[in-house]
Amino acid sequence: MKFGNYECTSIGMGYFYIDGGAMFGIVPKVLWEKQTPADAKNRIQMNMRSLLIRGNGKTILVDAGIGTKLTDKEKTIYGFEEEMGNMDAVLARQNLTPDDITDVIITHLHFDHAGGATYIENGELRPTFPNATYYIQKAQWETAMNPHSRDKNSFPAINFKPLKEAGVLTLLDGPGELSDGIELLVTHGHTAAQQHPLIKGADKSLFYCADLIPMAAHIPLSWIMAYDNLPMTIMEEKQAVLERAYKENWVLVFEHECGITAATVQRGSKGIEIKKTIVL
Ligand SMILES: [Zn+2]
Repeated sequence: MKFGNYECTSIGMGYFYIDGGAMFGIVPKVLWEKQTPADAKNRIQMNMRSLLIRGNGKTILVDAGIGTKLTDKEKTIYGFEEEMGNMDAVLARQNLTPDDITDVIITHLHFDHAGGATYIENGELRPTFPNATYYIQKAQWETAMNPHSRDKNSFPAINFKPLKEAGVLTLLDGPGELSDGIELLVTHGHTAAQQHPLIKGADKSLFYCADLIPMAAHIPLSWIMAYDNLPMTIMEEKQAVLERAYKENWVLVFEHECGITAATVQRGSKGIEIKKTIVL
């Protein structure tokens, strides 16, 4: 689907499984399991939906999934099949190779967003997209390099330290225009300086929610994750984004949602709600 000068396509990086309670925080299970049923281990299925943005001479990837570096134990915990994170196979479906990617926007450095940024070849860690510039917010980088014990397990340095060593990393300091028609918005409630691309068109724009609104079920304001470091902050940020999405006709892309790829929103009796689901 076209937004401004850019063709935007969602691409699946595979599925993994996370504890349903952790994904919905204080929301009772009797409510969230109506939306997303849990398995025998109380886990729910999660998508990893990246975004490909093509136009103005660029081929931009937003987030890179878990990748192929999980240990056997981690693969069991997350129910992840390695072949799903294989970037050659994922990009071949778009007639692309990792060499074709010119820019990589990593929303934040948690393993399910940044794992695919690097891979192991001949025992060495390398950037998966050798010709790309990788964009990460500076405050997120500093958080990931000195993680708090609360979310330290989500920041394995093998996913991002090799980017700096290879000289492909650009650290950004706050929101702003990345290139003509692509703006980066920054939020702090999930983790410090998570960035979200907004691809602007004349009649509609696309907003990549990442972990601000990971699934369509997280649209109601109090439906936030136990993983969110600043609960009140993320609620305020989500409200502001949903208001703009309604007023400015944004298509919201849900990275972790299995059922709905993207949607526009409207004002309903209980607040902002889905107006129309969209496939990209
Ligand atoms: Zn995530």
